[in-house]
Amino acid sequence: MKILVINSGSSSIKFQLLDMESDQVLAGGVVAKIGEEGSYLKYRTIGEGIRKEVPIPSHREGFELAIKVLLDKDHGVIKDISEISAVGHRTVHGGDAFTKSTLITEEVIKKMEECIPLAPLHNPSNILGIQEAKKLLPGIPQVAVFDTSFHQTMPKKAYLYALPCDYYQKYHIRKYGFHGTSCRYVSQRAAAMLKRPLDQLKMIICHLGNGVTIDAVDRGKSVDTSMGLTPLEGPMMGTRSGDIDPGVVTFLSRELGLGIDSIDNLLNTESGLLGISGVSNDVREILEQADKDNDRCKLAIEMFAYRIKKYIGAYAAALGGIDALVFTAGIGENAHQIRSMVCKDLGFLGIVLDEERNQKMIGVEGFINGPDSRVAILVIPTDEERMIALDTLRIARESKGSHH
Ligand code: ADP
Repeated sequence: MKILVINSGSSSIKFQLLDMESDQVLAGGVVAKIGEEGSYLKYRTIGEGIRKEVPIPSHREGFELAIKVLLDKDHGVIKDISEISAVGHRTVHGGDAFTKSTLITEEVIKKMEECIPLAPLHNPSNILGIQEAKKLLPGIPQVAVFDTSFHQTMPKKAYLYALPCDYYQKYHIRKYGFHGTSCRYVSQRAAAMLKRPLDQLKMIICHLGNGVTIDAVDRGKSVDTSMGLTPLEGPMMGTRSGDIDPGVVTFLSRELGLGIDSIDNLLNTESGLLGISGVSNDVREILEQADKDNDRCKLAIEMFAYRIKKYIGAYAAALGGIDALVFTAGIGENAHQIRSMVCKDLGFLGIVLDEERNQKMIGVEGFINGPDSRVAILVIPTDEERMIALDTLRIARESKGSHH
């Protein structure tokens, strides 16, 4: 069984073809800068990689190009589209309509359209991707995997904002959370690495990439998560402010006369690590400059780690203790300096890092806690595509079963 995983964004389509029997990524790539100048295809298989500039005016052409290269007689990995058993789509916002991954039907697409106001930048391009894939790969089951659905197990006390109740009932304003696919994958991996059943473990997941999610997972269920109605809430991020007093927004508007779009832009693209460091949103560059005594870079790193530490404290309390602390995504997997700062002085919670192990664990799976640590500390490279492919395979099989 081969599963095609699609991540259709506003200007790019990422794709990966996985062979589920051999548990291998056969090929993967991206068509980028759709509708812009300098659009290109990047593609790699186990053996080789190619990059070529091609005009890609729309998502339609982008998809055609992706399918074409998978079938190509020199670079391809399949001979016919019928070799693709099912297609899994990464989908950002499922609102409270979707509590798990689902087979895509016309009704599902309609419900996804109803979620557009919740993710105006993401959901339209996700839906476009589904529609194009349906046209190009007719008759092949398509599955939607939502970034929000893992968090649908949160209790009301965790997901409601303390606004008048109408705002939830009428407008669906609540905490949804994101990075659910990543958190679900690493929590399952963590249980496997600990050789303990997931339903006996309390974990805190630190997904630290350009976007940051801290997630409290109680016996396999997400019970609180740092992102909110939008991916702006939580600790500090690459270019996003994370938590601020909402009064800052009214101040910016009333006192500085900033319009709503400027404020949106300020909080989403000019803040976070970039805003504080003034250098970059990339932790590698900031660490380099901090080493050269750049004060703003040092401050950016300190703030970043401090805010994560505070969430760990909050979620340890919410969970009533923790068995495992997991670091994942670009920063969590690689930046041992950040992990070290986050865990420092958390011995009172049973979190004790082994600094030597920590410095060695870069981009690979492993334990970084010391022998005296009550809490297991793990580094786990995330693999959202694999999680999407596993869901897609299961759901495609179930749907086939129900037809017979
Ligand atoms: P996204 O959220 O876009 O998927 P990633 O999970 O790939 O992001 O994380 C990207 C971030 O990870 C980069 O901006 C960078 O700050 C950080 N990063 C990646 N590699 C390293 C590294 N070797 N050392 C420190 N930070 C890294």
